[in-house]
Amino acid sequence: MRAMVLEEANKPLTMQDLLLPSPGEGEVLIKVKACSVCRTDLHIYAGELKEPKLPLIMGHQIVGTIEGEDSLVGVPWLGKTCGVCPYCKRDEENLCDDPTFTGYTINGGFAEYVVANKAFVFPIPDGYSEIQAAPLLCAGMIGYRSLKMVETAEKIGFYGFGAAAHLLIQVAKYQGKQVYAFTRKGDTKTQEKALELGAVWAGDSETKAPDELDAAILFAPVGSLVPTALRAVRKGGIVVSAGIHMSDIPSFPYSILWGERVLRSVANLTRKDGEEFLALAPKIPIQTEVTTYPLEKANEALRDLKEGNISGSAVIIP
Ligand SMILES: [Zn+2]
Ligand SMILES: [Zn+2]
Repeated sequence: MRAMVLEEANKPLTMQDLLLPSPGEGEVLIKVKACSVCRTDLHIYAGELKEPKLPLIMGHQIVGTIEGEDSLVGVPWLGKTCGVCPYCKRDEENLCDDPTFTGYTINGGFAEYVVANKAFVFPIPDGYSEIQAAPLLCAGMIGYRSLKMVETAEKIGFYGFGAAAHLLIQVAKYQGKQVYAFTRKGDTKTQEKALELGAVWAGDSETKAPDELDAAILFAPVGSLVPTALRAVRKGGIVVSAGIHMSDIPSFPYSILWGERVLRSVANLTRKDGEEFLALAPKIPIQTEVTTYPLEKANEALRDLKEGNISGSAVIIP
């Protein structure tokens, strides 16, 4: 099979012809039809996440078909959990002590085929093509988990308006929430896009929000946004950092955390998050905006995502 392989951090992926992987017990062989690119892939590529299997096939928003079957299935970031650690037993499998992660500690979907653990594979809801469904698998699911952390909030700030925010604003609106979109300074194109998708306000992240927020979700991996967001939320407000990696958070005065403001991260996803989100997606219905790349152009997809040149999600088609 053809696959784009990461041999070493910061070295362009190379096209390789590999043996077809063979599924072990509890695993299935999936023919990849689409694989969306996530910001996490950039962090893996850049060596900011420290434990990749190398050489590695990245990609953890995979849609394809199990060999011998027709219906679409999705493979998410969470590849497998141990089932026996204290976190697994507590229904917190997202925090499992001994997990595998697709496209990071096991091979992912920048390839023609992938092997996945059957218990962690989701059926894709009817009405979604493989290309439309791919961004739901991480941007959507982990974004949804972040939104669950601020369930009672009405006014929510989204800091960073990329793939995840594009999807989550649709969920937030459906839930009757008001979204305030914060982008990179001067990125009026993204601000217009956010307003088009239903944000009640859009502006630069350094700008003060016009209203006091109940919560904020940080999608951008920029540590300086933490104090910015804490200053924007009301007493008792919640600031959620949704990414797996972030630049260092500058020190900040205790007074902006005081007043029972909460600062928390969201890590990975549980299968329950994925099931809930995929049940919700067709009801809204969530529309995904995608730019497609053939498999051999995976390096271009990573570059475009890094440079912020993609509206919505990049999807690789093997
Ligand atoms: Zn991801
Ligand atoms: Zn576990």
